[in-house]
Parts: sequence; C-alpha cells; structure tokens
Amino acid sequence: MYDKLYRHLLLPFFDRIVKGRSTVAHWKRAEESQWWSRQQLEEFQLTSLRQLLAHATATCPYYGETWQGLGLDAEACQSLSDFTRWPLIGRDTIRQHRLKMRTTTEIHRMTKATGGSSGEPLQFDLDSGSNDRRTAMMWRGYNWAGGAPGTRQLYVWGTPVGNIPTWKRFKMDLHHRFDNHLILSCFEFTPDKMRQHFERMNRYRADVIVAYTNPLYEFARFIQSEGLTPVSPRSIIVGAEKLHGFQRELIEQIFKAPIFETYGSREFMLIGAECEKHHGLHLSLENLLVEVLDDDGSPTPAGQEGNVVVTDLFNYGMPFIRYVNGDRAVAGFEMCSCGRGLPLLKQVVGRQLDTLDTPDGRKIPGEFFPHLIKEFPTIRRFQVVQEKVELITVKLVAEGGNLTLTDRDHLMNEIRKCTGTAVDVQLQFVDDIPLTHAGKLKVVVHAV
Ligand SMILES: [Zn+2]
Repeated sequence: MYDKLYRHLLLPFFDRIVKGRSTVAHWKRAEESQWWSRQQLEEFQLTSLRQLLAHATATCPYYGETWQGLGLDAEACQSLSDFTRWPLIGRDTIRQHRLKMRTTTEIHRMTKATGGSSGEPLQFDLDSGSNDRRTAMMWRGYNWAGGAPGTRQLYVWGTPVGNIPTWKRFKMDLHHRFDNHLILSCFEFTPDKMRQHFERMNRYRADVIVAYTNPLYEFARFIQSEGLTPVSPRSIIVGAEKLHGFQRELIEQIFKAPIFETYGSREFMLIGAECEKHHGLHLSLENLLVEVLDDDGSPTPAGQEGNVVVTDLFNYGMPFIRYVNGDRAVAGFEMCSCGRGLPLLKQVVGRQLDTLDTPDGRKIPGEFFPHLIKEFPTIRRFQVVQEKVELITVKLVAEGGNLTLTDRDHLMNEIRKCTGTAVDVQLQFVDDIPLTHAGKLKVVVHAV
C-alpha cells in the first residue's frame, strides 16, 4: 500500500516539486528504453557521445587542449569504434587536472569523493542533472530485483561515522522512514550487535535486503553458526564489492531468497546489475559507455579479463571520458535471454589488487590471497600487508579468534609455496579489520 502511494504520489511530488529534479522522469524513460533493440540503444549512445565530445572540446580546457594536441576532432567521431582513438584517463589525471577538466559553462555542480578502497580517496565533480540520471539507473536496476523505490527495504550498509548532530540524525531518520528504509550499520559487527541486528531485521520483515557484499556474507555466517532462522525477504541486492560464488551460495541458502549482484562506483553510481535471469550484469547503457581493454589499450577479446573503462555520457560538469577505474572484468558483451536490449557485462573480477615483492625478486599477485583464504571457512576477514620487503603480515579475523593447528599449518604451507623462504610471513589474529566508509576493504596492501 505505502509503496504504491510513495511511487505514484509522494516520490514524484518530492522529486519534481520539492527538489526540482527529474529523477522520476528519467526513471520512466529508462524503464522503456531497456526494451529497445541493442542497435537503437547504441545509436542513442553514439548521439550522446558526440554531444559530450563537442561539449568537452569547447568548454573543458583539459580535454580541448589534449585532444587538439593529438589531432582529435569531436566531429571525426562517427562511430563507437572511432572513439577508441581517444586517450584514456585515470585517477592521476583527475588529481592533476581536476580544475581544468571542469566545464567553464554555468552548470550547477556538486562535489563528491570516492572511498579510500585503493588507499587514495579522490574528489571529483558532477552536474546535478547527471546525478538525477544516475539515480534513475539505480532505481531501474534495483527494480529488476523487485526493489523499486517505495518497497520495504532493509539496508546492511555503511552509516555516517563520528559525531552527528541530533538534528541531522533526526532528519536522516525521517528520510529513511519516508523512503521505507531501515538501516543497520555494517560497521558495528560484533556478535552482540549482530544479534541485535538480527532481531531488528526479523521484526522489520523487509521485502528486499540491500547490502554490502562482505558484511552480509559475515552476517549470514553468523546466523548460520548461531542456528538462527531469518525471515526471508523477496530478494537480496548486494554491491560495493564483488560477490563470489561461494558467498552467493551461502547467502541464498541462509536467507532463502535470490541474490542480485550489482556493480557500481562513486564516480558513476550503478554501472551494471543482474536481472531475474542472473546471466551477468546489464549495463546502464543509456548513461554510461563501458569498455573492457587490455593494458595496451586495445579491446580485450571476449572471454578474457581486462581493465574497465567508463565514459559518463551526461556528466557535463566534469566529464569522465574513457576513465580507467581500476576494476577488472571479463570482456564480451552478450545479450540476455530476458529480451532487454542492454548487453551484459559477463563478470566483474574486482579491483586489481596490489602485487607483493620478495627479496629474491618474486612478484606475488594480490589475487593469490583471496583465492587461498576462501578455502578456510572460519576466516571471516583478512588483510595482507607488506610494509618492509622482508616481512609479509597476514591479519586474520577468525571464528573463535584462532585457527586450528592443522589449518594454520596448511595455510602457512600454501603461502610459503608462493612466497618462498626469503621473506618472513607472520599470521596475526585480530578482533577486527575496519572497512573503509564505502564498505570496502583493501585486502592486499603493498606499502614498501
Ligand atoms: Zn536479463
């Protein structure tokens, strides 16, 4: 009842009249355009891209100068493959040239920051209009999981930290009630808190649970080990970090509900989301142009892993054009049997992890550690830190505070096989490893 009232009356009123936004209008259009043919969608994308390139050439000094220096003319971009000649940018580009990347036209801009999952928070700008569009993409993606605005949602999410004034807390609370959301903080995951969260969750009887991937996995493990029975939601939406197969399996088993993976970032919000077929992540194609490229910048062949490169077609305030976001994904944009024209991003592999060095010159890819440690189900969270070349510290949050002797030997042996003996490896059992504010955890830290 409330969700219909909210969706048809309260939300449009609040969005259009109170806030002067166009989010609902964009959402309605996106619900229709998802059924366009792929060709129609790509034509729309090309038209938007050409407008963006013209705008950036004319009004963003950084882009205008760089492209002119390379002899690139926006007019010459006649197809999506022409666009592959445009240069890539990265976090460093924004750090060095942010002011010159902004448009000189009068557009209402907002400033945002990415979380510190890479250890390096980043500030950037976007225009308010593009914020409405990206929010609309998120609503559509959540709707695929039955989580349209107004449905009763429980968030296992990050909450603001530090001292929040009472009035602000009150305002946030009111907002959540209005939106039909209940927020449980995933930054407070002690056993006592988890028990309280569990009770609140069961009383709340959410239609949909929306959660950061790893905290929800930990929560599911807790529910399992305590032998508790959760009230099943209709579905579960996870984001912020990659969902591994073993996590999907356990979470679905414990909550007895299908899980929908989403992929997004602060820079772009929702990049892709699963539909009811769970074959991959449908791209937010009307808003974003997503490429998967090799290290040399050429398109990655289908089925292989490459770097995710994103262009936001509507952030006119500070355009992101061919931005290498640091994530890895499997290339090949197939179509889905659901009939939507939005191609699928097959699989997000996640952020490229740091590589560790040893004194005898070995390079240990960061991916080694999650791959190994997932074999130890009693390890809840881990972080591998190398601050000196001769020492690798493996921090572990384990059930009961420790591993069995057999598991410890097994773990050490496997690590040793990879690191050799020239580097000292220490296991350190800790009570907690804090997540960043974006709910992420940098699992491998090379800080030599
Ligand atoms: Zn689909």
